[in-house]
Amino acid sequence: MAEKKSQSVAENNYVCIECGMPAKELYKDFNAGIIKISHCKYCGKVVDKYIEYDPVIISLDAALHKRQAYRHVLYNTNIQAHWRFAILFLFCDTYTKWVNWPGSHHSNQRQSERDFIFYAALEWSFYLMFMVSAVEFITFYVVMNGILKIWKIISQSKKDIRNIIKGVLLSNMGKLLVVPAIIWGQSNSMVYLTLTHIFIFSSNTQAIHVMCDVPTYVSLAVVTIIHSTQYLSVKLTEEYLIPFLDTK
Ligand SMILES: [Zn+2]
Repeated sequence: MAEKKSQSVAENNYVCIECGMPAKELYKDFNAGIIKISHCKYCGKVVDKYIEYDPVIISLDAALHKRQAYRHVLYNTNIQAHWRFAILFLFCDTYTKWVNWPGSHHSNQRQSERDFIFYAALEWSFYLMFMVSAVEFITFYVVMNGILKIWKIISQSKKDIRNIIKGVLLSNMGKLLVVPAIIWGQSNSMVYLTLTHIFIFSSNTQAIHVMCDVPTYVSLAVVTIIHSTQYLSVKLTEEYLIPFLDTK
């Protein structure tokens, strides 16, 4: 079933967001402004109801982890800006780490004549945090790539790994939550950091579940491995960079 599904997805360009089966088109265009929404030949439902929806509704449904919204975004839209998003996420991540690094809080005890040293150290710590975030991102990419390659051999799936990676990269949208956190002055809050991490974790899980057609517990295990390796790589990098971060 999974093989049939992936073979046909390559022939057809879209998938039914309800059942995940391939679909030839999302709508029929009869010219003269007459458009007919296509129905799935497998489940009989509308192939992709989201083509009529407002992007805000689609974003909300994706935030609520609705499988249909994930299928719409990951299969039926033609988003080409994955790497631009990845760079944006990298900077958001760097900022989150930077504001939560203990040395980035201005201490009242510091004398004003020493402030320029402090601000130089702040700038330097931003670059170091960028390095930590970059290592974290590379770990994410490499581990996910490795696991997907092994999965492809075991399951003999015809799915394109690059598309799956692009989809999972996009599911890191939760990193943008740092923007409202800055606005509300919550970027140091442990509650906010924990909730953001849980959101990113569950978004990654849902993306792998939808794109690889694997049960939720499998995608959960895969994301746990990816995130644990990321955590270790961050800890090791920070350990290595601590001598450079010490500004006292
Ligand atoms: Zn269907």
